[in-house]
Amino acid sequence: MERRTFLLAAAAAPLGAALAPLPLLAAQPVSMKDIEELQKNWQSFLAPGAKLPSPGEPLKLSKDEWKKRLPPEAYKVLRDEGTERAGSSALNGEKRPGVFACAGCGLPLFTSAMKYESGTGWPSFFTTIPGAFETKKDFYLIYPRTEYHCIRCGGHHGHVFDDGPPPTHQRWCNNGVALQFIPK
Ligand SMILES: [Zn+2]
Repeated sequence: MERRTFLLAAAAAPLGAALAPLPLLAAQPVSMKDIEELQKNWQSFLAPGAKLPSPGEPLKLSKDEWKKRLPPEAYKVLRDEGTERAGSSALNGEKRPGVFACAGCGLPLFTSAMKYESGTGWPSFFTTIPGAFETKKDFYLIYPRTEYHCIRCGGHHGHVFDDGPPPTHQRWCNNGVALQFIPK
């Protein structure tokens, strides 16, 4: 099936309907319209019956509560803006259909169809689920970078760069330890 036709067919299918998994994974977006479709249909990557929080329910915890809730490596990244060692995350090779959620609060952030192999050693995405993140400029490495964090819990996830693949040219470079993968 032609890519464009498939995306339209996928868009027309009711939520939760069985979609042919192969074309969804293989479809590479070529236009910004494809990106909009990916963003609009992100829920089709959820496991049936999966209950995940929404951005409208903020999660605010104290430093001590976060320390109790998170493993030390995840705490270092999410709450202290640390960076994991490149190539250390098993999620680099994760290719199954599903949703990547915040390891701090469970908010859905990316789908498997938004992931690509950047070769950097960190899970990388060319777009996000709409409204999942807030950004700020940081100067830790002297030159300015755009930091992004989960809108629900404020947890740091990574930095977004402009050397990603077309059509967005975005590279959301995410620490794997800050993510949990929920297979469809
Ligand atoms: Zn979060």
